[in-house]
Amino acid sequence: MEIKTVKGFKDILGLDALLFNEIQRVGYDIANSFGYKLIVLPTVEYAELFDRSVGNTTDIVEKEMFTFEDKGGRTLSLRPEMTASVARSFIEHHMETNPLPLKFFYFGQCFRYENPQKGRYREFYQLGVEVLGDISPLLDIEVIQIALKIIEQFNIKNLKVKINSIGCRVCRPKYKEALTEALKPHYDELCPDCKRRLYTNPLRVLDCKKEEDSLKEILPRITNYLCDECRKHFEEVQRLLTELKIPFEVDNTLVRGLDYYTKTVFEVISEDLGAQNALLGGGRYDYLVEDLGGRKTPGVGFAMGVERFIEILKGNKFKTPEKKKLYITYDKKFGSNAFEIRNSLIPDFVVEIDPKGDSLKKQIERASKRGSDFILIMGENEVLENSISIKDLKSGNQIKIKIDELKESLKELLKDA
Ligand code: ATP
Ligand code: MG
Repeated sequence: MEIKTVKGFKDILGLDALLFNEIQRVGYDIANSFGYKLIVLPTVEYAELFDRSVGNTTDIVEKEMFTFEDKGGRTLSLRPEMTASVARSFIEHHMETNPLPLKFFYFGQCFRYENPQKGRYREFYQLGVEVLGDISPLLDIEVIQIALKIIEQFNIKNLKVKINSIGCRVCRPKYKEALTEALKPHYDELCPDCKRRLYTNPLRVLDCKKEEDSLKEILPRITNYLCDECRKHFEEVQRLLTELKIPFEVDNTLVRGLDYYTKTVFEVISEDLGAQNALLGGGRYDYLVEDLGGRKTPGVGFAMGVERFIEILKGNKFKTPEKKKLYITYDKKFGSNAFEIRNSLIPDFVVEIDPKGDSLKKQIERASKRGSDFILIMGENEVLENSISIKDLKSGNQIKIKIDELKESLKELLKDA
């Protein structure tokens, strides 16, 4: 039987792979310009890390984790997200001894055992940033700005920023209580998952896609329950967003599917994505580090779904900047000269060398099948004269120049090609 990819897993090929690479490159470039440093984390962690951070009554931990026992009897999980790993790493390496806040950028795959569909896979990539060690609402704005700046590099519009505050240890319990009380009379209308959530994690009912909007409308709003500190923080976030002319919408039903969030939560959604419309999500997590055994360290960050971003870019016909493609044809005797020429031209150009060095006609045929822009010809005459011919495959024009001038001539020729 033919072996195929596993359900929910995929190959990333062709244009998708080019865009994947470009998103990673631009994401890192932008985050780095804001002072964020790359962090590379393991894909496997102790399952307990996610139990204690994402939360053991969330869908992610309850239903979606790839958890297994290794040969040493350890209970491990493929990471379903990366914020918990950043916090674990922060604690493990005593990073609190550095001048805070610390700012990280990451890019890597995550795993969730979900029902695969468009924009939803069992292995997917997240790009994200995290700031640890500062409570200021300015940092909530900073991470939102990074997300938008990355998106802006790709000329993407039609996005919406939604924000909410989900309070803290002081005010959230009171809201949870009020919410549970308000939901009880509607118990029969709730979906089976929400019937359970009502007692384990009532906030999640707000986020359930199966519940009627009419029900959500009559429920109490968290913003009426925020303590002074959370209210001020949320007001400041909104004031800054307004001043910076970042369009946003307050959505009191936005709660996010991870327990570690506190205060600000946000999402960027795109209508180009259909049902799975969230391109990225994030928020503050002021207790995460201490809940994992570290010193009290507030944090804020976001994670973007790379596959969903690729979808948006494809829909907008975004073109990745590509180098011009050259193809070296040569008389068989001069194979090594071809290698030398290539060495002098990379990495400014993409340079392929014909694998055979047979008749010029056959080599040109192969070059054109591979979509080369220009052919470099190293025949006997050229080599004797220390020169090389450049043939434009589109126009058929051919010129002969001195080898020393090759790079400059190509740059000049290809400027408008
Ligand atoms: P959703 O509501 O779409 O399930 P989520 O709230 O579970 O998203 P987060 O945990 O915040 O998502 O992850 C951040 C981003 O990662 C999402 O906004 C989305 O773009 C992407 N993402 C999450 N789960 C998947 C998945 N199974 N496949 C592809 N991308 C995903
Ligand atoms: Mg989800």
